[in-house]
Amino acid sequence: MTSIPTIQLNDGHDIPQLGYGVFRVPPADTERTVSEALEVGYRHIDTAAIYGNEEGVGAAIEKSGIPRHEIFLTTKLWNDRHEGDEPRAALGESLEKLRTDFVDLYLIHWPTPARDNYLHAWEKLIELRDATLARSIGVSNFLVPHLEKIVASTGVIPAVDQIELHPAYQRRDIAEWAAAHGVAIEAWGPLGQGKYDLFSLEPVHAASVAHGKTPAQVVLRWHLQKGFVVFPKSVRIERLRKNLAVFDFTLSDAEIAAIDDLDSADGSGRVGSHPDDVN
Ligand code: NAD
Repeated sequence: MTSIPTIQLNDGHDIPQLGYGVFRVPPADTERTVSEALEVGYRHIDTAAIYGNEEGVGAAIEKSGIPRHEIFLTTKLWNDRHEGDEPRAALGESLEKLRTDFVDLYLIHWPTPARDNYLHAWEKLIELRDATLARSIGVSNFLVPHLEKIVASTGVIPAVDQIELHPAYQRRDIAEWAAAHGVAIEAWGPLGQGKYDLFSLEPVHAASVAHGKTPAQVVLRWHLQKGFVVFPKSVRIERLRKNLAVFDFTLSDAEIAAIDDLDSADGSGRVGSHPDDVN
């Protein structure tokens, strides 16, 4: 079975660099697809309360018989639960659905700056970590000002920032801030969600031919060599297998540089929502 490398987070915990994300996996299919993912070797699952499929994830993990500590499990706090003691209640509900006593990583899903409660939510996540309900805590879709605000106020640096990132939308300002502060970047939409055609871009195509790999595998390999954590989504087992088969080749420095050049300087490569607009 493929051995997946890990990255050490700033709190000392290890995260498998490649996982399986279940955004838009229908709840009725989730137990099957997560079971298949675990079967073919994935040990890192990324879900969220808002995906509505935590029950399927929990059922698959429990039925797999794989010891809980061998699986890295992430879920996320939804936007309408930042206030008061809601984060604790929300995590409790997620844990029940996931059939576990703790998550490996709990994230604030979006900063929702117009509500401006993300600092309070971050303080609550620190409590949840101290109560060992979440081993690591982090954020998602946070821009540099949001990151700076929570760190300046609490002194606690998030373990990760999970942001939309792919060759056409490289978020260099956030990636540089994260590298300087020891925050791991998790790249969501690593394949452009199928909305941005990364696969026919020349450097991706050329590397695909050179290495006898699919364009999707080349893009995933680029993320891994950049040091990002990824969890591409698919409901097809043959793609789950292919997305895992990215540890037997290496892109050259020139191939990496050519893909780096695909970044859209004006941000036009973005396929998802802008964090300022999600409230
Ligand atoms: P993705 O870039 O992983 O794209 C998924 C799509 O790519 C699939 O629907 C499929 O059509 C295609 N695909 C997958 N494997 C392929 C292959 N081998 N060859 C060709 N096409 C392939 O986008 P995503 O699902 O949005 O992102 C991955 C994960 O990131 C999600 O499942 C979720 O866990 C997370 N996510 C987080 C946020 C957030 O706000 N934090 C937002 C979106 C996604």
